[in-house]
Amino acid sequence: MTARKTNLADPIYHDDDAARAHLESLLWPQGAVCPRCGVMGDRITKLQGKSTRPGVYKCKDCRKPFSVTVGTVMERSHVALHKWVLAAHFMASSKKGMSALQLQRLLGTNYETAWFLFHRLRECPKGERGPMGGEGKVVEADETYVGGKEKNKHANKRLGRSLARDTKKAVVTLVERDGSARSFHVANVTAKTIRTVLVTNASRKSHLMTDGSNVYLGVGSEYAAHGSTDHASGEYVRDDGFTHSNTAESYFAILKRDVYGSFHSISEAHMHRYLVEFDYRYSTRKWSDVERAEELLRGAKGKRLMYRQPEGAAYA
Ligand SMILES: [Zn+2]
Repeated sequence: MTARKTNLADPIYHDDDAARAHLESLLWPQGAVCPRCGVMGDRITKLQGKSTRPGVYKCKDCRKPFSVTVGTVMERSHVALHKWVLAAHFMASSKKGMSALQLQRLLGTNYETAWFLFHRLRECPKGERGPMGGEGKVVEADETYVGGKEKNKHANKRLGRSLARDTKKAVVTLVERDGSARSFHVANVTAKTIRTVLVTNASRKSHLMTDGSNVYLGVGSEYAAHGSTDHASGEYVRDDGFTHSNTAESYFAILKRDVYGSFHSISEAHMHRYLVEFDYRYSTRKWSDVERAEELLRGAKGKRLMYRQPEGAAYA
């Protein structure tokens, strides 16, 4: 991919027709495809005429009309397409993440619409299939807790130190050194939950790196090698310079900064969606903002109706 710079004056960000053409080029690189039959080329007619909405095509096989948004997260949305394109750009380019409140201000929508746009876009990253790591590769695993700042709570709602963790959400992240990240919200950090995350995501041929926590001891022996540092005694990197889990630690530093800086709080029910967003930005960190936004929109396909917008529920 060639690096292209963002140009917010581009009509795709403020003109509905330009945005539609942009989406068509991303989702239909070979031309319009019937979402029902999968046919294209001369089996498709573009409908034109005063009474026809723009961007409508008709399939000669199933005889049904369709547009580029059918079968995507944008289907049946009343939000103008250029707002979708702009929201994708903001999500892809905001290094610290962007809150729905800020998107609402920038797009001039109401809060619920902004919230819904971002949550739909969080469905788009395709995610990698297959295991992380492998022979000669290093996978770092670490866990952290986000949310639930005790000092912000009213005194009688504050919990003791041991209970405080229960109001926070545990996140386990696997990071391949020089590669991508995958994060998971787990109810509890135990040897069992950690093992499930590890063995279903990281090749056992990998060199596993963790801190000295007991939860990694058992599963560590299933890996080609297991290196650990003893954070409790202040050891973060072994003398070899190779044994550390600092890549996972720095991932968490970004995650926590995002949560406290832009999102303030993330509800349990939506935690995994935010993690998808963080993982996506991290895993594509070497791409340009334009490439990251375009790939996000390409992922809009086949994600329709994966969940419903809650009615007046906590939008966090
Ligand atoms: Zn068809």
